[in-house]
Amino acid sequence: MKIARETLQFIFEVCKSSAPREFAGMLSANGDVITEVIVVPGTESSDESAVMQLFMLPNIHTVGSVHSHPSGNTRPSDADLELFGRKGLVHIIVGAPYDRNSWTCYDKDGNPIKLEVVEYKFKDEDDLL
Ligand code: ZN
Repeated sequence: MKIARETLQFIFEVCKSSAPREFAGMLSANGDVITEVIVVPGTESSDESAVMQLFMLPNIHTVGSVHSHPSGNTRPSDADLELFGRKGLVHIIVGAPYDRNSWTCYDKDGNPIKLEVVEYKFKDEDDLL
């Protein structure tokens, strides 16, 4: 699994603008590249409720989840771990200050995994040419 650089950048920005509240979303992929974030509306400030809402979404096709930890600690909570196991393969936690050095990706068992950041050509860009 990989993630498009622009998508990751978008994630950092929404995490930053949501702070000090927590941001949560689901990840959607094109092939093996994560290209889209489905934002969960009305995310509450507490970690547990944000992630809970995430997993109560209708069964849209997603490959994993992303949420922020304004504390800066990117370790999954017990509630996070329980939910990671339920849905999706990759789960990103972004901690403050929400940059390329402050995020960790986990598998469904909560083990840290490497998520390669790739350049991805979005369809919209083609249309503009
Ligand atoms: Zn969490």
